[in-house]
Amino acid sequence: MVRRTGDPITLRLLDLFRIGLGPSSSHTVGPMRAARFFREACLARQLVPDRVEVDLKGSLSATGRGHGTDKAVMAGLHGWEPETCEVDAVHALPTRLAADPKVPWGAGTTVVRPEDIRFLRYVEYRDERLPHPNTAVFRAHQGGRIDFEQTWCSVGGGFVQEPGADSHAFWRPPASPPRYPFHDCASLVAAAEAIGGTLGDVVLANESEWDGSPGATGAGLDRVWDAFRACIQRGLQARGELPGGLGVRRRGAELLHRVEEGHIDSAYAPVARAQAYAFAVNEENAAGGRVVTAPTNGAAGIVPGVLVEAAERLGLDRAAVHNALATAGAVGMLVKTHASISGAEVGCQGEVGTATAMAAAALCQILGGNPKQVENAAEIAIEHNLGLTCDPIKGLVQAPCIERNAMGVAKAWSAAQLSLHSVVSPVISLDRVIRVMKRTGDDMRREYKETSEGGLAVSLPEC
Ligand code: SF4
Repeated sequence: MVRRTGDPITLRLLDLFRIGLGPSSSHTVGPMRAARFFREACLARQLVPDRVEVDLKGSLSATGRGHGTDKAVMAGLHGWEPETCEVDAVHALPTRLAADPKVPWGAGTTVVRPEDIRFLRYVEYRDERLPHPNTAVFRAHQGGRIDFEQTWCSVGGGFVQEPGADSHAFWRPPASPPRYPFHDCASLVAAAEAIGGTLGDVVLANESEWDGSPGATGAGLDRVWDAFRACIQRGLQARGELPGGLGVRRRGAELLHRVEEGHIDSAYAPVARAQAYAFAVNEENAAGGRVVTAPTNGAAGIVPGVLVEAAERLGLDRAAVHNALATAGAVGMLVKTHASISGAEVGCQGEVGTATAMAAAALCQILGGNPKQVENAAEIAIEHNLGLTCDPIKGLVQAPCIERNAMGVAKAWSAAQLSLHSVVSPVISLDRVIRVMKRTGDDMRREYKETSEGGLAVSLPEC
């Protein structure tokens, strides 16, 4: 089922905030889910293959090794899920399967050899028309032939879809209509104004309608918030160099220390503290730890950095935190529906740009902004990230990614403040700037879309 223009947005809030595993939602979380879906499809056919082979193509092969895609696929083939898997067990899989490739599979076992998770070189598939820049082909071999094959596309934020579906294939008609339907930001703002509430109120009311009670979403948001805070704490306790050989040192704890020791100008301290939190999250992500997509792993530090700092400083209660998360989620839903949150599809504007807009909107609301000001904060945040390319050095989600999140924090703060204190009406709507993001992404050359073949990714030797 494909979403038609004007159909209500039915993305679920907790799909934007998936608890998973670093370092990449599209290269780690998505492939793990796809591998598990392939396994389930085999089991539904009562198929226990002799061995399983996986071809990774496009951005999954270009940067997948640095993003841990092979480990994620191995974990998914075990039936493990991003939210609940043991982090250390996932990282141990290549070594474990090299020694013993047997994987429990229904009532039997199959064989998953690390060398059968293949990062194809561009020349090996360049004549193919890939269904998506992040494509994985799963094959079940039995008796010397391929018994079953399935292709999955990882479309950003941990979302996966089969080929043939268009970019709205994640859309499903809801079991019951949303209480307050909206299809774009204009209709979302109108719905919020009609009930005298926030963008988050609209989203939370729709979630309650679909869940049958407000409890399920609230419990899910509590888990997300706990995961944000736990990730920040782990990141702040860790020291040293991140894995991957790029020589990137962790610096979240150091920055926070400087804030707490008063070395940082007090006017800048809240931003610096939020940046320290963002560093902590992104460093955990880069180390393959447990993080929450917000809306992706690469951009996972901005929303928790801004919101956890604001919640601590302003003493936000649980309801205010839920509402802020729902407002941030609303912005993510709009971008996911009308453009993309995938670096492989539209570059980093879709990841860091979207996360910055989500944080800006939520912060503007926390500081008292009305729905139009909240929209404007998100618009400013995206507008000044338009054209941002994705060029991770060595395919690692470290440079420029980690510092880019810290800059996203600062931009989110500025966007919220600019919107709150603006004396002129905005000339560009959020809906319009999201459409521009999509067109800019469509025009962007492949080298700048999570392939590590352009920009900073190829300039390191000159530095
Ligand atoms: S540059 Fe941006 S989009 Fe690319 S991997 Fe890093 S955070 Fe993600």
